[in-house]
Amino acid sequence: PVVLGIESSCDETGAGLVRDGKLLGHAVASSMDEHARYGGVVPEIAARAHVHSLTPVVHRALDEAGLAMADIGAVAVTTGPGLSGALQVGLAGAKGLAYGLGVPLYGVHHLAGHVAADTLEHGPLPNPCMVLIVSGGHTSLLLVRDLARDPIVHLGDTLDDAAGECFDKVARVFGLPYPGGPAIDRAAREGDPKAVAFPRPLTGPRDDPYGFSFSGLKTAAARWAERHTDGELPVADGAASLQEAVADVLTRKAVAACKEHGVGTLVVVGGVAANSRVRSLAEERCQKAGITLRVPPLRLCTDNGAMIAAVGDLLVRAGAAPAPLDLSIDPSAPLEYAALHPVARAA
Ligand code: ATP
Ligand code: MG
Ligand code: FE
Repeated sequence: PVVLGIESSCDETGAGLVRDGKLLGHAVASSMDEHARYGGVVPEIAARAHVHSLTPVVHRALDEAGLAMADIGAVAVTTGPGLSGALQVGLAGAKGLAYGLGVPLYGVHHLAGHVAADTLEHGPLPNPCMVLIVSGGHTSLLLVRDLARDPIVHLGDTLDDAAGECFDKVARVFGLPYPGGPAIDRAAREGDPKAVAFPRPLTGPRDDPYGFSFSGLKTAAARWAERHTDGELPVADGAASLQEAVADVLTRKAVAACKEHGVGTLVVVGGVAANSRVRSLAEERCQKAGITLRVPPLRLCTDNGAMIAAVGDLLVRAGAAPAPLDLSIDPSAPLEYAALHPVARAA
């Protein structure tokens, strides 16, 4: 069947249509501009924007796919983690569609969506594979087997800030526009990555090899910025050096985890996988280590509905039982299984 995926966990409203691992069409609306003046996502504004965007986004995805509402055979929706008001809007819409069309509903973990995004471009994931998930709220190393059936093994997570959060916060200190990650990436193009010797947190011999920490890096960048007066801050050098430090730590640990576990494929996903230096350094280091690197195309790295449809499609094909219609959101859902309702795990 054609699976409709709905994503509304943060400030992107996404709808995507997937059948048998193939992306048929998708559309995303973002309330990013409405949050810019506050310097971060305002939950209430995000939730209202989802109300306005959900129906048009579903129709745009259908138009792109050349399909009609009646062609939808299953609905998958992000039920967590994310902002509760935002999640509620997507779930209510998904329930209405599933009930109205008489098709099964699946609750999906947002991060499993980020992982599955890559399958839409590069085909099924090898079993096992190492996944580095780097986004606005998460930085984790995961050992993934069968995404639709098996539990996901967490090798390590960040102890404090996520990598994307670090970019976003430092960008503010550097006076770069919101959202910070892409702005740091752009500014870094004109800068020298060796200009500032930022720390490489948790890379010492006695540190957790799979743990991450980015709040110290954020502080180091803020201290460095304080040493300059306003018009004199060499933003490009700071951005390039920060980006280099983040990319270095992420890719070093991810490649070491692959070697340690004898895994031949590394998949880098989430919004920060869009970062040009993270991509190029991962490529360089994987090539050297004989590891196959997979990174989704830029448009599928940040939040979208296609990635949620991709998980739904995997669940459908694995014969997972659908969710009951009283399915609820779970704003702080831990990533254990791709499906966020227990009955789906039976298959
Ligand atoms: P999560 O997925 O953890 O719930 P999220 O959905 O807010 O969080 P994503 O949409 O996956 O996160 O990614 C957004 C993050 O990616 C932001 O922190 C943003 O700054 C960062 N990001 C996007 N593009 C780039 C880039 N080119 N370089 C660095 N960071 C980037
Ligand atoms: Mg976003
Ligand atoms: Fe995300």
